Amino acid sequence: MRYIIIGTGVAGYACVEAIRSIDKNCEIIMFGDDPHGYYSRPGLAYYLTGELPNKALFPKKREQFMQLNFKYQIGRVTKINRAEKKLLLDGKTQLSYDKLLIATGAYAAALKVTGANLKGVVKLDHLEDANQILSFAKRGRTAVVVGGGITALELTEGLLSRGVNVHYLLRGNRYWSNVLDEQESRIVEGRLQAEGVTLHFHSEPVEILGKSGKVNAVRLKDGSTIKCDILAYAIGIQPRMELAQDAGLNLERGILVNELLQTSDPDIYAAGDVAQVYDPITGHSVMDSLWTPAREQGYAAGLNMAGRQKAYIKSAPFNVTRLAGLTTTIIGAVGNGRDEDVLGIARGDSETWRQLPDAIVAQGGFDMNHVRVLVGEKTLIGAVVMGDQTLSAPLQTIIAEKLDISAIHDKLLSSDAKIADVIVDYWAKHLETA
Ligand SMILES: Cc1cc2nc3c(=O)[nH]c(=O)nc-3n(C[C@H](O)[C@H](O)[C@H](O)COP(=O)(O)OP(=O)(O)OC[C@H]3O[C@@H](n4cnc5c(N)ncnc54)[C@H](O)[C@@H]3O)c2cc1C
Repeated sequence: MRYIIIGTGVAGYACVEAIRSIDKNCEIIMFGDDPHGYYSRPGLAYYLTGELPNKALFPKKREQFMQLNFKYQIGRVTKINRAEKKLLLDGKTQLSYDKLLIATGAYAAALKVTGANLKGVVKLDHLEDANQILSFAKRGRTAVVVGGGITALELTEGLLSRGVNVHYLLRGNRYWSNVLDEQESRIVEGRLQAEGVTLHFHSEPVEILGKSGKVNAVRLKDGSTIKCDILAYAIGIQPRMELAQDAGLNLERGILVNELLQTSDPDIYAAGDVAQVYDPITGHSVMDSLWTPAREQGYAAGLNMAGRQKAYIKSAPFNVTRLAGLTTTIIGAVGNGRDEDVLGIARGDSETWRQLPDAIVAQGGFDMNHVRVLVGEKTLIGAVVMGDQTLSAPLQTIIAEKLDISAIHDKLLSSDAKIADVIVDYWAKHLETA
């Protein structure tokens, strides 16, 4: 039996682990077109700021790879021939498969303005991108950052920490408007301004101007220009679906898979950022760009590929991240609508966060420490925790396990509610009885 995995990200790696946990003797081959193989993409933000050295990005040791006993080859899969169950590698080498996983991830959506090909225009997908940003930042004095979500802030923070002045352009009137509420957006914006970032609301670039092939200014839609040496963008991501599309698999916003992570071809599976995954509990088919779901999906796909029927049940998506230096956890459904700064989905983002059903908001705290919970009839539906993270783990469990909160429902919604105290109390009682 030969299993082939396309993609060396966390979904691909978890798939190898799962297959090997069942079948000790099968042949497993993994192809990847990133010369650095498997590393932490969320860690790239901390690599940019200098908080993580290069070697800390690589979570696995050589012996761990050896133990899994699989073949890893750098190269790009250029075609899937479903009729013959064969792949084409780098346009020349053919290889047959019995079961195939597509875990090709996503790339940054392109910034479509004149001048986007100039030297100094950067995005943050890969380690190579991060290295390029660091090299531009050595000589750069001013950067313009365009986009929304987590990655735009990671670019901003990374550049700031390297001594670059940053102008941050936002199309709308506040940051990440479809996930954060107004107060949360303002907290983040205030912190960015305090760090020295110049915010430009209702702004977007219409042309990147250059000299000798290098960026030297950006023209905005109001006709003004900002002089800069770096233009960094993070306007959303595009799942890498070219292979699946060419092979005629069913697609929507991602590669459509059932709860077994199987595509419309039963011998081909998909997982991670490229997959649009059916959740049998909600009946929704959604996209995430999150590390943990990618790992869980890759693992579930591997088990299914190796013959163990294991439905993937989506847990409430959560992300612990840093927004302008403030640790922030986002859990379950917390917002809705569309953010003008992001096309579709951003990195470290989940469509589920924006599926806000009927819920009432309760929030407390101020400035540095803030908690917002979305209160359903008997359960909590989502939460945002900024600053002090004491409530983050309890809220993850309360939301993911749909614990009955009827006993504190009215307390949470009372006008003088001390949300944090109510939840801490509830959690202590829950632990006593559990
Ligand atoms: C800067 C950044 C910050 C992030 N921050 C967070 C965060 O705070 N929290 C969070 O949960 N998630 C975050 N994410 C998202 C998270 O890293 C992804 O959800 C996760 O890495 C997806 O894993 P994957 O295996 O699906 O895809 P990837 O990690 O993208 O791996 C796919 C691999 O497939 C390879 N590939 C693609 N096509 C081919 C082909 N045809 N042939 C061969 N190889 C191919 C690619 O080169 C790539 O190596 C962040 C990502 C980035 C880039």
